[in-house]
Amino acid sequence: MFSLSERQRAVLHAVCDTLLPSITRDHDPAGYFATGALVARTPARVEQMLARLANPHDQARLKLLLAVLDSSAANFAVGGGFRSFADMDPATRERVLTGFAHSSVTLRRAGFQALKRLCQVAYFCFPTADGRHPAWEAAGYPGPLPQPKVEVPPLAVLAVDADRTLEADVVIVGSGAGGGVVAGDLTAAGRDVIVLEKGGNPSSRDLTQVEGEMFNELFLDRGMIMTDSGSMPVLAGSCLGGGTVINWTTSFALPEPTRAEWDRRSGLALFESPAFGESLARVQVRLGVGTRWSTPSGRDRLFEAGVRALNWPVEPIPRNVTDCLEGLECGYCTYGCRHGAKNSTASTYLRDAAAGGARLVPHCTVDRILVEGGRAVGVRGTVRRPDGGTHAITVRARAVVVACGAIWTPVLLRLSGLTNERIGQNLHLHPVSAMGAFFGERVEPWGGAMQTRYCAQFADMDGQGYGARFETGPMHFALPASAFGWASPRQLREDVGRLAHMGHVGILLRDRDAGRVVPNRWGHPRVLYDVSQYDAAHMRRALEASARIMAAAGAEELFTLQTPPTRCRPEGTGWLDRFMAQADATGYRRLRMSYVSFHQMGTAAMAAGPGRGAVDGEGQSFDVKGLYVADGSTFPAPSGVNPMITIMAVADHVAGAIHTAL
Ligand SMILES: Cc1cc2nc3c(=O)[nH]c(=O)nc-3n(C[C@H](O)[C@H](O)[C@H](O)COP(=O)(O)OP(=O)(O)OC[C@H]3O[C@@H](n4cnc5c(N)ncnc54)[C@H](O)[C@@H]3O)c2cc1C
Repeated sequence: MFSLSERQRAVLHAVCDTLLPSITRDHDPAGYFATGALVARTPARVEQMLARLANPHDQARLKLLLAVLDSSAANFAVGGGFRSFADMDPATRERVLTGFAHSSVTLRRAGFQALKRLCQVAYFCFPTADGRHPAWEAAGYPGPLPQPKVEVPPLAVLAVDADRTLEADVVIVGSGAGGGVVAGDLTAAGRDVIVLEKGGNPSSRDLTQVEGEMFNELFLDRGMIMTDSGSMPVLAGSCLGGGTVINWTTSFALPEPTRAEWDRRSGLALFESPAFGESLARVQVRLGVGTRWSTPSGRDRLFEAGVRALNWPVEPIPRNVTDCLEGLECGYCTYGCRHGAKNSTASTYLRDAAAGGARLVPHCTVDRILVEGGRAVGVRGTVRRPDGGTHAITVRARAVVVACGAIWTPVLLRLSGLTNERIGQNLHLHPVSAMGAFFGERVEPWGGAMQTRYCAQFADMDGQGYGARFETGPMHFALPASAFGWASPRQLREDVGRLAHMGHVGILLRDRDAGRVVPNRWGHPRVLYDVSQYDAAHMRRALEASARIMAAAGAEELFTLQTPPTRCRPEGTGWLDRFMAQADATGYRRLRMSYVSFHQMGTAAMAAGPGRGAVDGEGQSFDVKGLYVADGSTFPAPSGVNPMITIMAVADHVAGAIHTAL
């Protein structure tokens, strides 16, 4: 049972009081945020978030950090005087934490970023009891919108009210882009299917649009997975429908040159084949992919204007939506669509599967694949009850499909005894950063369709297909809290006050260099990944281009997501050179520049043989017969484009192979 000591609590309280704008009441006699009660509740919320962190490793590290900040000797060494952080005056606390943020010691920078993220998410992403928040009001942010009149019901699921052993033709672990498609296809083909999903089964009434609550309910490990170095939050969905419920509906097919590259890399003749092309086409039809509902939001209009002014190409983004309202409410779609307009796997393939007799079990975490005589015969897991208790579940099946996403799939394979050395290798995260910009006009970056325009001018910087694509994304409070750099509480307060005027260019990096995932000693993923020098050089070029885009769109001020952020007014001759020289001085590598991963890929790659990948061209494991992988793990290399459609096409292909094999 996790808890903090009184001393650690006092330190945490002081940290919150330093990192959040309330501290600036001294500098702000008007009490701009007037947050006393809210800040007072924030440390307790951070403690609750710490207690709920799925990974004991992260808990241990944060406790240690609080202990270091409590240590007089450690604080003396960083110029804070011989006393606990809790006993310092506000100015000294700010100096000590800023020292951590800029430190040459990676661990200090990582500790700072972890605390900053927790405190800011705890503070900005939950309202007060009356549903309001002074920072939201200061920003002109409307917060959660009224519930629509018509409820979109949850999926029909199998209730598990005792320990159970079930049988099926196929058991599927994970129900996102990959698992959902396999469930739909195999049920349609007449197979008896069971889907086990760790996350819940929300109805539209459960989608409160309170960011903190929705991170808890809809995101993998409550949105708190970080790379091992602490440099990158790794975001993924976790509920029936997985990432397709919370994603931004951008629906690109794998580009032709990448299909050829994947065949070369994997040694397979698959991705360029007509059959794979048919899988890509089939999933796009089922998802209703098109550009009919791609009306640009305020931020996309500015982005498009900037790109056009530079004479670079800008195109509409195809989306998997039907009758999308495209107005204010749409911008909240990261927390699920309450109108049923988003064609997630929950509202398409899984709904079809449930209607066709598939049994869906939410709140069910699988911890072992059962293997007998070199063949997968089922899985074992635990179903969480609403009262916190659990039931054991075993499913015996003729085929087992693992579709837990590229972070958990390799961990489950390893914990189940698979030994292929490629499992967990080849982790690609598509690191995302951004160029922020403030405009004179209101942009309301939280509203409008999720993503409707992209620019691929810099998608191939090295002649090998590696580089960056530009898109924008909806901006509420959670993303700034997670990814913006740090200068001071005063700067934070000022930026929050201007949030409604913020636009940006989102930079999606196709990462050439890979990391890996291994289970830690608690059986949780350890995500070993840092942006390489090679990829960081691409990020630098992309940032420069993004600064030009935002300046051409009429931005009054630009800022990077570095710590400290590089800022400038794009005016006068030589502004770009000066801006980039300053950004170069801070750098683009880990914990100097903020990155977030929305796309995880490659950790159980498809290949022609076990030396090159973990599964064959039909998704079947090289180690264990009858065991298939059908999710983003199967990618031989990063897709470069947003991966959902490609994952679904791989899953469609794997489902066909399973049906033939059974
Ligand atoms: C905020 C956000 C926006 C995005 N926007 C886009 C976009 O616009 N377009 C796009 O193409 N992509 C987008 N993506 C990425 C896309 O959603 C994912 O790449 C895709 O969903 C991954 O599919 P998957 O099948 O590999 O895994 P997931 O969809 O993540 O599904 C895996 C499922 O397995 C479950 N699971 C894990 N472990 C276990 C276990 N042990 N037992 C049982 N269940 C388990 C998880 O809870 C999860 O539901 C976005 C992602 C995020 C986070």
